[in-house]
Amino acid sequence: MDKYTPTGVSVNKSAKKIFINWKDGHSSVYPFGGLRKSCPCVFCQGGHEAMGKDIDPIVFLTDTSERLDIANIKQSGNYAIQIFWNDGHNTGIYRWEYLRKGCPVEAGILPPEKDGN
Ligand SMILES: [Zn+2]
Repeated sequence: MDKYTPTGVSVNKSAKKIFINWKDGHSSVYPFGGLRKSCPCVFCQGGHEAMGKDIDPIVFLTDTSERLDIANIKQSGNYAIQIFWNDGHNTGIYRWEYLRKGCPVEAGILPPEKDGN
């Protein structure tokens, strides 16, 4: 589905945001802090029974720690990205569908924005 197919992913470390463009023309902006809080791994979600929840886009309004950074991003298959945080945490596999459903721009929480890098 075009909605869940990314055409480009960029990380702006100075703005502490990830920008994702999608095949259906939508552009998403994800501040690091909200992404870290939305880590979909078992540990962060508080156990298997809590897994499978969607991101509440309101989480992207929370402040990002000054020190929070992304060390690396790897594509995981063709369905997700794995984010390596500078705090050492890297077990979160963020599915495209998970990210798009939680897009704060689409939810009207954050204004549309292009990567000015
Ligand atoms: Zn996690």
